[in-house]
Amino acid sequence: MRVLLVEDDRRIATEVVRALEAAGYVVETVRDGEEAWFRGDTEDYAAIVLDLGLPGMDGLAVLKRWRQNGRSTPVLILTARGSWAERVDGIDAGADDYLPKPFRMEELLARLRSIVRRSAGHAAPVVSVGDVTLDERQMKVFVRGIPVTLSPLEYRLAAYLLLHRGRVVSQQELSESIYGQDDAHDSNAIEVLIGRVRKKLGPGLIETRRGFGYLVPEPAG
Ligand code: CA
Repeated sequence: MRVLLVEDDRRIATEVVRALEAAGYVVETVRDGEEAWFRGDTEDYAAIVLDLGLPGMDGLAVLKRWRQNGRSTPVLILTARGSWAERVDGIDAGADDYLPKPFRMEELLARLRSIVRRSAGHAAPVVSVGDVTLDERQMKVFVRGIPVTLSPLEYRLAAYLLLHRGRVVSQQELSESIYGQDDAHDSNAIEVLIGRVRKKLGPGLIETRRGFGYLVPEPAG
């Protein structure tokens, strides 16, 4: 899953990137408001972590412009501790949640998971489709209750499709969400990955829609 991190403090950015990547996210980092606004306006991210104090355009202005343009990407803002005004302004501007600095990485990850789930319309951290169960907290996929060994790429692909079940996901969207925009892969790489995941999770889980992409059907009932 692809996340945009907007943070001008290099030390914080490095720590957040490390934690997010360890949690299986693909992270793109930008340090100023103008660039942040442009990326968030033109790219699709699963979520955006947005610092408010930024050079160029401040985070609040960036967020307002995204929302005015109809961009609904879930946004977690990083605020100064104790600044209730920042929190209120942030929520008013369209933030989905906020986290006061300094924060623990565990809390950042929990809040991020929660806004991504809410935006996908699923409230539970565990998703089941047929025999297959995704547990985002453990970053594991189970088949009939038995954990399956997946590589990080296989896990990202399976998790993305399971979280977006009921919708056809294009090869490009899938590629960007698991490899990141700066590291584009050809469609063969995705097909090979799909084949490996099918072998591990069962052939019926992921359907191919020729020319459109891939679909994990919403379970009936
Ligand atoms: Ca800052």
